[in-house]
Amino acid sequence: MDLMEKLSILGAAARYDASCASSGSNRRGQKGSLGAAVACGVCHSWSEDGRCVSLLKILLSNACIYNCAYCANRRGSDVPRATFTPDEVARLTTEFYRRNYIEGLFLSSAVVRSPDYTMELLIKTLTLLRTQYNFHGYVHVKVIPGASQELIQEMGLLADRISVNIELPTSQSLMLLAPDKKKDDILTPMGVIRQLKEANKEERRLFKSAPVFAPSGQSTQLIVGATPDSDAQILRLSSSLYERYRLRRVYFSAYVPVGRHPSLPPPDAQTPLLREHRLYQADWLMRYYCFSVDEIVEQGENLDEDVDPKTSWALRHLSFFPVEVNKADLPTLLRVPGIGPISARRILEARKTRQLEHSDLKRLGVVLKRASFFITCKGRFSAAVPLESPLLRAHVQDRTGLEGQLQYPLPEFPSPAAFPAYTEG
Ligand code: SF4
Repeated sequence: MDLMEKLSILGAAARYDASCASSGSNRRGQKGSLGAAVACGVCHSWSEDGRCVSLLKILLSNACIYNCAYCANRRGSDVPRATFTPDEVARLTTEFYRRNYIEGLFLSSAVVRSPDYTMELLIKTLTLLRTQYNFHGYVHVKVIPGASQELIQEMGLLADRISVNIELPTSQSLMLLAPDKKKDDILTPMGVIRQLKEANKEERRLFKSAPVFAPSGQSTQLIVGATPDSDAQILRLSSSLYERYRLRRVYFSAYVPVGRHPSLPPPDAQTPLLREHRLYQADWLMRYYCFSVDEIVEQGENLDEDVDPKTSWALRHLSFFPVEVNKADLPTLLRVPGIGPISARRILEARKTRQLEHSDLKRLGVVLKRASFFITCKGRFSAAVPLESPLLRAHVQDRTGLEGQLQYPLPEFPSPAAFPAYTEG
C-alpha cells in the first residue's frame, strides 16, 4: 500500500475525533528546527465537515484489537486497514508543514497488539519527529487507555497536549458498547498525567531548564447520543473531570451512526449536532461564567434545545431580572443572556466615566436581541415584550437558523443500508 493510500484511510479514520483545537503552547522557533507553537494557538481552518482542521489529523493505525460498537475502526468492522510506520508519519508531517498545509499534528491510533505496544509506536514517531526531523511545532497525541505510567511520561515530554478519550459517560455504557475498555484504564492515565504535570511544575521551579511535560495539558472526548445518557450525566462527568484531573477541555462529539448494534441508535438516526452545540455552550458557562452544573441542568435532564443554556437559566429565574446595567457587579452581568465576559468587563470600564444607555451596549459587544429582555439602563426597559409576557420565550429562542448552520454533513459516509451488523470480529 502506498503512502497516499494509507493517508486517505487513516485520515478518514481520524475524522470522528472532535478534540482538535488550538495549541495553547508557547514555544519560539529555533534555528535549525522546523515550526513553532504560539500561545494564541495553531492557526485554525475549517474542513468541509465544519470542524477545525489546522492540524494534520491522522491515526497511526486503524487495525484495532478492540471492538467498541460505536467505532468504525472496531475489530469486527469491514473497513480497509492500514498502519503507518513512525517514519512515514514524521515525513508526512514535515512535508505538509513545509508546504504550509498544516501547523501541527494530531495523532491518534487504534489499539495495535496491546496498549503499551501502540504507545511505543506513537513515542517512536514523536521521537523521530522531534529529533531526526527537528519538528518543533504543535503536536497533540492520544494516550492509549491502559498504557503504563513510564510510557505516558515519555510521551508527555514529546507532545504539547496529550489526551485520553473517555468516550462514554457511564461505566454501564462502557461495559455495553466498549467491552474491552475499563473505566479505570481511562481514568488512571488521567490521574497519572495530572500527577506528572504537577511534579514537572515543581521540577521546573527548581531547575528552569527541565523539559516541560505536556505544556498544553490534557483533554478528553465524550461521544454524545450513542447511549441514552442524559446531558445532566454528561455535564456532571465533565465538571468532575475538570476538577479531579485539571483537564483543559472536554470535547463533545455527536454520535455518527457507523454500524448496527441493538444498543445503538438506528443507522438512519440523525446526528445530534444541536445537542452537541448546546453541551459546548453549557461547558462554556461552567468554565467562563461561574455557573455550576446544577444551575445549568437538573438531575437526569437534557438541555433545552430551543434556547441556549444561559437563556434557559434566565427563563427559569425571572425574579433575578431585570438587571440594571449601570449598577450590577461582574457576576450579575455574566448571568444576563447576551452579555459575555468581554462585554461585561467593557461595561464595568465604560461605567467609570458615564452612565450607559441602551444605544451604548451594542458598541460594547452586548447581543441586544437577547439581552434587552433582561436588563434596564438608567431604569429604562426597552424590549418588545416584558419579562412576565408568555411571549418572552418565543422572542429569545435561537433554534431557528442554528439548525441550518449546524447541518455540516460529515462527508463520504456509507449509506445506512450498507452498514454492517455488529459482529464479535
Ligand atoms: S479502541 Fe475502540 S474506539 Fe478506539 S479505535 Fe479501537 S474500536 Fe475504535
